Amino acid sequence: MTDTDDVSPVPAAEVAAWDYESDVVIAGYGVAGAAAAVEAARTGADVLVLEWTGSWGGAAAMAGGFIYLGGGTALQKACGFDDSVDNMVAYLNSAMGPGADETRIADYCQGSVAHFDWLVDCGVPFRAAFYSEPGWEPMGDEGLMYSGGENSFPFNTIASPVPRGHIPQMSDKKQGEASAGFILMKHLVGTATAAGARSVYDVRVQRLVVDTDGRVVGVRGRQYGKEVTIRARRGVVLATGSFAYNEKMVAAHAPRIAGRPAASVEQHDGQAVRMAQALGAGLAHMDATEVAIFIDPQQLVRGILVNGRGQRYVAEDTYPGRIGQLTLYHQDNTAYLIIDGDAHEEAVKSLSPMLMVGQPTWVCDSVAELEREMGLAPDSLQNTVAAYNAAAERGEDPLLHKKAEWLRPIGTPVGAIDLRESTGGFTLGGLTTSLDGEVLHVGGAPIPGLFAAGRSAAGLAAWGYSSGISLGDGSFYGRRAGRAAAAAG
Ligand SMILES: Cc1cc2nc3c(=O)[nH]c(=O)nc-3n(C[C@H](O)[C@H](O)[C@H](O)COP(=O)(O)OP(=O)(O)OC[C@H]3O[C@@H](n4cnc5c(N)ncnc54)[C@H](O)[C@@H]3O)c2cc1C
Repeated sequence: MTDTDDVSPVPAAEVAAWDYESDVVIAGYGVAGAAAAVEAARTGADVLVLEWTGSWGGAAAMAGGFIYLGGGTALQKACGFDDSVDNMVAYLNSAMGPGADETRIADYCQGSVAHFDWLVDCGVPFRAAFYSEPGWEPMGDEGLMYSGGENSFPFNTIASPVPRGHIPQMSDKKQGEASAGFILMKHLVGTATAAGARSVYDVRVQRLVVDTDGRVVGVRGRQYGKEVTIRARRGVVLATGSFAYNEKMVAAHAPRIAGRPAASVEQHDGQAVRMAQALGAGLAHMDATEVAIFIDPQQLVRGILVNGRGQRYVAEDTYPGRIGQLTLYHQDNTAYLIIDGDAHEEAVKSLSPMLMVGQPTWVCDSVAELEREMGLAPDSLQNTVAAYNAAAERGEDPLLHKKAEWLRPIGTPVGAIDLRESTGGFTLGGLTTSLDGEVLHVGGAPIPGLFAAGRSAAGLAAWGYSSGISLGDGSFYGRRAGRAAAAAG
């Protein structure tokens, strides 16, 4: 047994001395932990954040920085978009499902405008500019972008299309390393520190300390190879991220994503879930995952995506994360982007700086030849391309409803970009919590003294996802958890 395998609760009576103490103890200094720290400290509570690594940030500081907000935020208005709470609810109930928690979605949408204002009040800068190009994130410092396929089928038939990906302003981004998530974190941590929150680094929280009445009164972990025990006079907030890097948990709950963690950090090892499970905590959506497909959307929209049977299965102009999910889960992780020479060149030109540029594996003078080279069944790809081209000539896509602006018959030479095994992602499931961030026992009652937020908890996303949901619900419910923990005890 390794030292992290033991998640059994530590009886408070066995604690001889506390190494640190505070009113509110927060495990993890990523987005949920920082938001919790701000709000708990603002109530006047003494707040201590324990972080495994040597610095604050977590996955959030590497993130593209989308924060999913709407209902008529000041930024949406400044960019000329009309949104409403009901419109946002209609989109999220569909896009986050099946299995979306409609009560949580309604609560989140209701508080979304105020949450944006809160972020601005914490100093997070947003530039009132809309980025209209397909992409994973704006490479410039624009503040608003579609981040969930709101303007493509089927969502454009369910709710009025409005962009809700709010992105903090940052120049000189390096996608996947230092992007707008860093700016978000810098301001949240700065605000927490100014409000009086303290932090200790290199502390890996491993177990919960529990009183005889079942109340969580602290945590135990390791710091510089030594055991440390930390007392929480009012409450403990678990904010340590997902379980994307816990192979056993992934194998047990979300095996399709096994071996392909992405958009997460190694510290996302599921420890919070396991510690709380040891106290009887309930879980939800453990099989749900975000899934990215590793190609630039500028290429996707200009081609057609086909599966191993040479058939299209998704509108190529939708949210690329939805394409990733449908590819991994419904197409056995097999996809090929069929793109002609002109479209490929145009896509490459539009990518600046060049990011995930996929190069064709096969290039042929005809679709028939390409089909043979790729080893697809005779006529499968030819029929697909013929049907697509005939409809595209008419400006239609009756099969999958790609928008007319991207419909152009596939010409020659024609290539195929091999996207087999080109997906990765992180887990979305976790602890069940109340809207105030209380961790709920499998029986439904709150576990006294225990709170959670961020990807350690089940949030807005069930099966579906949109970019910005994690920084969105992590910061939104992190705040709630921080306030509730400060008021507990
Ligand atoms: C490249 C990239 C791009 C992304 N883009 C977006 C985006 O645009 N929008 C979006 O919504 N999401 C995005 N994500 C995902 C998002 O960053 C995470 O899902 C989100 O940060 C989760 O919030 P969290 O607070 O739960 O975890 P984190 O922000 O990762 O914070 C968890 C913290 O807990 C610490 N920790 C872990 N275990 C322990 C322990 N046992 N004891 C103490 N500390 C511990 C970690 O070191 C970490 O600092 C992206 C992620 C990456 C990597």
